[in-house]
Amino acid sequence: MKTLEVSVVTPDGPVLEDNFEMVVCKAENGEIGILPQHIPLVTPLDIGEVRLKSGNDTKFVAVNGGFLEVRPDKVTILAQSAEKAEDIDVARAEQAKKRAEDRLQSKQDHIDFQRAELSLKRAMNRLRVAQR
Ligand code: ATP
Repeated sequence: MKTLEVSVVTPDGPVLEDNFEMVVCKAENGEIGILPQHIPLVTPLDIGEVRLKSGNDTKFVAVNGGFLEVRPDKVTILAQSAEKAEDIDVARAEQAKKRAEDRLQSKQDHIDFQRAELSLKRAMNRLRVAQR
């Protein structure tokens, strides 16, 4: 089976570099699946999970937006932050979720709702990926 070289990179450094048969991620226009020899592509990513498949095994990564770059034999995901499922601190994500929910429920003018919504989305994505 042909494989793709996959790198997930953040400003803090590489999160994952390995070879996989298929990559599925959440582009802003919907889910996109990449197989070897895909046409070159650059597209923005949503906050979501990335699935990396090899045979019957699938690895899950929580990705906080960024960009997907596809070349025929290589996929690069550049994200503001990203965590492999096994590296996610569930208690921290639950606290972040609670904080964001409290902010969204408060009626105070100084709350930045868009920021709180994004924070909630990141936390819920981490919790979903951690359960995989
Ligand atoms: P928090 O409010 O808990 O910091 P956040 O969504 O604001 O969450 P980010 O700004 O996306 O956090 O990430 C900051 C750094 O912390 C990144 O390196 C990210 O990978 C890491 N990180 C954030 N939340 C978690 C988590 N629940 N488990 C593991 N690493 C995390």
